[in-house]
Amino acid sequence: AVELLDICKSFGKVDVLKGVSATVVPGETVCLIGASGSGKSTLLRCINLLSPPTSGTIRVHGQVITAPKVDLNAVRSRIGMVFQHFNLFPHKSALDNITVALRRVRRMSRQEAEERALAQLEKVGLRSLASSRPGSLSGGQQQRVAIARSLAMEPDIMLFDEATSALDPELVKGVLDVMRDLATSSGMTMVVVTHEMNFAREVSDRVLFMDSGVIAEEGPARQLLADPQTPRLRSFLSQVL
Ligand code: ATP
Ligand code: MG
Repeated sequence: AVELLDICKSFGKVDVLKGVSATVVPGETVCLIGASGSGKSTLLRCINLLSPPTSGTIRVHGQVITAPKVDLNAVRSRIGMVFQHFNLFPHKSALDNITVALRRVRRMSRQEAEERALAQLEKVGLRSLASSRPGSLSGGQQQRVAIARSLAMEPDIMLFDEATSALDPELVKGVLDVMRDLATSSGMTMVVVTHEMNFAREVSDRVLFMDSGVIAEEGPARQLLADPQTPRLRSFLSQVL
């Protein structure tokens, strides 16, 4: 489980997260929704310590990862993250983009790394494009390579920050299908920042609505989206639905 206890994050004098507490249980998929600037990305970046909280405690499987002297690399290799912009190495093939970290961080042999990378590419439907460079793949295919790269590290938890927002509309579905499959068949624990309300409704177990650095409302996806309790969520949904 991922437990967030009173997470605060400030940049200088600006308080962006103002006491966020939440628990994501193993196998659960939680969607994080909210207006631009409400702190969704900041919260995700706190969870994998890409940008550690100013105060508060984060526990992953009981281990306090916000404690001093925690091994950042160990934490980050258990928590995969997929961004809007996928940052693949342009001069490496899809396969090599995935094997780099396996070889450098996990010290795998070339053969072992390639086998694992191919298995992950298979899962995202791209095994036949293993030798293609990013430039010759569509945005959706590149994002699926990025997801495969993250999964190859065998994380316990996956964080997605608007993984489909930069894609042309016709490419969104392929990526959402991969995410849906991950949530439903593999039982991955996932925190997904998204503006795709259909995905939130159909795939997530729970939705958290962030507003000005706090979780203003939360609940089972269908219920929360169909019957918002706060004026802020009602107004947000009227703009995105
Ligand atoms: P969006 O939907 O647009 O991605 P978001 O909910 O992800 O928005 P964040 O990116 O978390 O919002 O930003 C929340 C607030 O924190 C914003 O006001 C932003 O300007 C501020 N912020 C984020 N990162 C930094 C930073 N490194 N330095 C200063 N301010 C920051
Ligand atoms: Mg964001």
